[in-house]
Amino acid sequence: MGRISYVNGRFVPHGEAVVHIEDRGYQLADAVYEVWALFDGKLADAEGHFARLERSLSELRIRMPMSRAALTVVLKEAVRRNRVRDGLVYLQVSRGVAPRDHAFPNPEVRPAVVITVKGLDRTVVEAKAARGITVVTTPENRWGRCDIKTVGLLPNAMAKQKAREAGAGEAWFVDELGFVTEGASSNAWIVGADGRLRTRDTNANILRGVTRLTLLDVIRDAGLEVDERPFTPKDATEAQEAFITGAGSLVLPVTAVDGQPVGKGEVGPVAMRLRRLYIERARATAI
Ligand code: PLP
Repeated sequence: MGRISYVNGRFVPHGEAVVHIEDRGYQLADAVYEVWALFDGKLADAEGHFARLERSLSELRIRMPMSRAALTVVLKEAVRRNRVRDGLVYLQVSRGVAPRDHAFPNPEVRPAVVITVKGLDRTVVEAKAARGITVVTTPENRWGRCDIKTVGLLPNAMAKQKAREAGAGEAWFVDELGFVTEGASSNAWIVGADGRLRTRDTNANILRGVTRLTLLDVIRDAGLEVDERPFTPKDATEAQEAFITGAGSLVLPVTAVDGQPVGKGEVGPVAMRLRRLYIERARATAI
């Protein structure tokens, strides 16, 4: 008898168990999971795992896909159908399937649920335990690699949602020293009172925006001065202008930060000029 998995309300052969490509777990790591050990086909530490699942979901504002009682029935049915006595049952709940967008789907969609069951040979497991294991150390970098364009976008998704709920178009991350690092899906820029442009350097833990890099070139060709230096949100509101860059936003003026106007609180000429110049450059070099 083959493995059986559970996908969104249906038990299916494991090899045919698929989720939609726009599942937010797949696209944005916008999902949580739990794993229960199985002893004689029963869920170990059930209460602790359910409690943590409920907490993880509530922290991400994903609703429980079903009651704890119903979920227990489904988990046990998955275990039963796989005839596993000793092993693991894995549960993943994502925010659901929706057109890709960092912010949460509105209206809310049904959370997506996946369950897989794996059998383990207790004799093998115990033999390994009897031998013990070795470990290696590694720098704590979870998740300090914002320079990699990974789909691990949950913090970005949550930031974008915060922006949306505040009626804003983007969220800027601010580091522990109070400096803006970058946007949830863009790089951040200001035009200082002296007319000099400023954007965070890429030695910081940020994504090396391709639009950012090209714009640096465009700026220099236009005879403007630029400093790759960090700035604070206050620097931004005291600046003449601010804007963001990205393949999605191109060069997009920012008129307020946390409700405070940037300069006069209007779209500024430098950002609009750079937008035009960037688009011209991008058009000319597109292949
Ligand atoms: N920073 C983050 C976190 C992003 O997700 C993006 C684009 O999605 C950018 C910056 C801008 O990068 P690019 O100009 O290469 O699109």
